[in-house]
Amino acid sequence: MSTYKNFLNKLENSLQIAGRRSEDIKLIAVSKKKPITDIQSVIDEGHLLFGENQIQEIEKKWPELKKLNSNIELHFIGSIQSRKVESIHQNCEVIHSIDRIKVAKLFAEIENLKNVRRKYFIQINTGNEPQKSGVMLSEANQFITESIESYNLNIIGLMSIPPINEDPKTHFLTLADMAKNFNLSSLSMGMSNDFETALECGATHIRVGTKIFGERN
Ligand SMILES: *Cc1c(COP(=O)(O)O)cnc(C)c1O
Repeated sequence: MSTYKNFLNKLENSLQIAGRRSEDIKLIAVSKKKPITDIQSVIDEGHLLFGENQIQEIEKKWPELKKLNSNIELHFIGSIQSRKVESIHQNCEVIHSIDRIKVAKLFAEIENLKNVRRKYFIQINTGNEPQKSGVMLSEANQFITESIESYNLNIIGLMSIPPINEDPKTHFLTLADMAKNFNLSSLSMGMSNDFETALECGATHIRVGTKIFGERN
């Protein structure tokens, strides 16, 4: 069995344990650092949702993959540099990592210019880790309010990556709570090692790389 099919089985089992329905969950196959051939195999098995964290890599791999395969939905999950906003908007249908007002403003300007609307998540740094992307907890409420009210972006939810050595559950619950306060319906949380917990805490989008594609170099 392919690692992809194997993961689908595991996911089915975890959904049952968490009491969640598969139609409420989007599985984003994180294909960063993986070659086109590996990605095409997973597409051939029927998967259409993929995630990448580097725009340079997306520009190299995805125009061809999208030409060969229709209905691909590409999710940008990496940190966003201002000068890459236009390319990210052009290449990705969903953006998970809005964490600066400047970047929100740039996306809004490009949407107005091109008249193309994308879906967005705001990334929250629930662990307040200085080296990590995401809005610090103390600034989160104001940031979310301003992004929703000042820019005409379709913000569907919140995203976070918990600190490596902490129990992810408290971070997932913090994120879920915050999303609820703002009536945001989507929660992008959970990776290969913590997706089960994320499902139990209400994740709607899980981002899984290693358990689908194998270890990265
Ligand atoms: C790499 C990455 C993932 C996937 O991680 P795995 O542990 O390989 O499942 C998920 N989210 C983000 C933001 C990533 O950069």
